Amino acid sequence: MQKEDRNSGFEHAVLSDIAFNRASLAGNELEYVADAVDCGHIAGDGPYTKRVERLLEAELSVSRALLTTSCTHALEMAALLIDLQPGDEIIAPSFTFVSTVNAFVLRGARPVFADIRPDTLNIDEKKIATLITGRTRAIFAVHYAGVGCEMDEINAIAGAHNIPVIEDNAQGIFGRYKGRRLGSLGSMAALSFHETKNFTCGEGGALLINDPAQVERAEIIREKGTNRSRFIRGQVDKYTWVDVGSSYVMSDILAAFLYAQLEARDQTIARRRSIWERYFEGLEDWSKSAGAVLPYVPPHCDQSYHLFYLLMPSEAARDSLIRKLHGYGIQSVFHYLPLHLSGKGQEYGYERGDIPVTEDLSARLLRLPFHNGLDEYQQNYIIDAIKSGAA
Ligand SMILES: *Cc1c(COP(=O)(O)O)cnc(C)c1O
Repeated sequence: MQKEDRNSGFEHAVLSDIAFNRASLAGNELEYVADAVDCGHIAGDGPYTKRVERLLEAELSVSRALLTTSCTHALEMAALLIDLQPGDEIIAPSFTFVSTVNAFVLRGARPVFADIRPDTLNIDEKKIATLITGRTRAIFAVHYAGVGCEMDEINAIAGAHNIPVIEDNAQGIFGRYKGRRLGSLGSMAALSFHETKNFTCGEGGALLINDPAQVERAEIIREKGTNRSRFIRGQVDKYTWVDVGSSYVMSDILAAFLYAQLEARDQTIARRRSIWERYFEGLEDWSKSAGAVLPYVPPHCDQSYHLFYLLMPSEAARDSLIRKLHGYGIQSVFHYLPLHLSGKGQEYGYERGDIPVTEDLSARLLRLPFHNGLDEYQQNYIIDAIKSGAA
């Protein structure tokens, strides 16, 4: 019996549970954090914040990058920048993280949900035009899994109505659409450096601004409604209250950590790419026999390798695969419960059946463990577990 076990492969592999996500150091994080403390500047806008912001501006081709305490806060800043008023509407996918919408609901906006494309799970650009009204103040492009939305079409529709497009690029840093960087394609974009994202400092984010006319006001909103940024640059001799705002500035301790993560971006991207490709190659044949669908990346998009999902043939098949993997000590999770069906979303009068592609796909989707520290051995174990027995 012992002998058989040895040859039966993964089933007897001794593994501790495989976490869905786990943060890891990429290089100089702890050294830079110590350096930030030594420099004596651990509040915001210190030397490491400047380094990260210049790196993001250069690499992502944006006018201005402002580090924030989270992606959610970057989105809240965007809501203040577009002067959202109660009763205004925003168009966003229902298949997204709650913050995409909540940052705007906080200012009194009403979310109008668009359905997604069945192939990329991004907002369906063909379904946006009919949702535009005289009160629409923003259209959201959430680059799901770091695969670009159809930005040319979305910008054309928005431009015809003079409505800004805001990119929620929490998942897509360093991805490209038709050769252009995600985050540089709308009027503004939000990034996340939460521990679940490709590059992290625990909690953090950034607002990217592509319209230079918005930069000064964004700096004010981020600095509690004061012109402190101009004061620091010596452009005014005292700083004072000039506008609405809040406290959205990231500590330089976190920026130091983040700078080390971003410096190692080439290795991290290569690492994530190999994880993604190993899943794809390992599961391609299985997916055909199991009636499952693997992620689709259009040829004109370079993805960020943020996550790997499976679309199972039914909700029951999805749930049973999650349970089966759990039995093997593997954490897999679903993603997202559609916002229009949530308790809060229901307040806007949506019913089941209103946004059919989103409802169908979100019930059949599961995400596999995906993080920089996932090794080949663990990945093969996961792939073998998926392929074993009945799906
Ligand atoms: C992670 C995520 C956010 C929120 O990021 P925080 O930094 O945690 O606020 C927003 N939108 C999307 C699409 C995300 O994936």
